[in-house]
Amino acid sequence: MVRHGVPQARTSEDCVCERHDCGGLDPVLWCAEHGDDVAPVLDWHAGGGLRCAQLTRGRAASA
Ligand SMILES: [Zn+2]
Ligand SMILES: [Zn+2]
Repeated sequence: MVRHGVPQARTSEDCVCERHDCGGLDPVLWCAEHGDDVAPVLDWHAGGGLRCAQLTRGRAASA
């Protein structure tokens, strides 16, 4: 199962994680912002799960 981490702050250009429509990402260890050392991720959810769909809808609605 893939987990998406929704970051606390907006991601910068330096972020090398894979991003998803829900606003979450697949953090990679070597990302300076979201890697293992820092991990400033607030909210984890299952990729393709209910929460993921909700977030995707929420973002589409507010866009
Ligand atoms: Zn990142
Ligand atoms: Zn997601």
